[in-house]
Amino acid sequence: MNKTSNAKRRQLVVGNWKMNGNQQLNAELLAKVVAGWQGEHQAEVVVCPPSPYLLPAFEKISGSSIMLGAQNLSQYDSGAYTGEVSAQMLAELHCKFVIIGHNERRRLQGETDEQVAQKFMAAQRASLIPILCVGESSAQREQGRHLDVIGAQLKAVCSQVGCDVFANAVVAYEPVWAVGTGKTATPQQAEEVHRFIRSQLGEVAETVRILYGGSVKASNAEQLFAIPDIDGALLGGASLDADEFLKICKAAD
Ligand code: PEP
Repeated sequence: MNKTSNAKRRQLVVGNWKMNGNQQLNAELLAKVVAGWQGEHQAEVVVCPPSPYLLPAFEKISGSSIMLGAQNLSQYDSGAYTGEVSAQMLAELHCKFVIIGHNERRRLQGETDEQVAQKFMAAQRASLIPILCVGESSAQREQGRHLDVIGAQLKAVCSQVGCDVFANAVVAYEPVWAVGTGKTATPQQAEEVHRFIRSQLGEVAETVRILYGGSVKASNAEQLFAIPDIDGALLGGASLDADEFLKICKAAD
């Protein structure tokens, strides 16, 4: 794929397995993905299994170029936080990336922009690369407030520590109405938001990878990846099907 405007940025495809799988299914899925992603590639690929499966997943992908990510972390480094997992623990389990502020956590666990910003910083303290999810609900889009909402989600990080921290981070634009619904943003909608996100990231903007997420499939990936400000995808459902996942990884390559 020839995208002259973003020659500095490697395409990235991230599979968010959510709370799916078990030891056997994960082993089967990863065996197929590893077999289909041999050798050198332009695009980078990350899988994010549920926390209990991080180490077995790492064992299955080691020797390949596929990297490991987590789906969430605590904003605290250690202490009396029952059930939480720290950034350092994830780093010790060989994670390189961690998804932060996924809309399911914002909606179902009530994570605020401020907590998400603290998690972003906790990830970077442990040298993990945060994948910061931002995106509007359908009501916010209907009210024409989508850019304001996304701007505030980014500002929650930039106002605390400056935008330069995005030099070691990834942003994922995931319209809430497109995640797990089968609806995908039109190329025009995605293009507007990705350009806006880049405009908010200060001096490091041109180097930051901005992924699109929301019902990406093999059938729509090429069209999305052709948009200059889209640098790959964050996948939910499609990452649980090895053939579909590999087709999307190859479209990004
Ligand atoms: C996601 O959960 O981040 C996601 C993009 O899900 P899906 O691809 O299933 O819409």
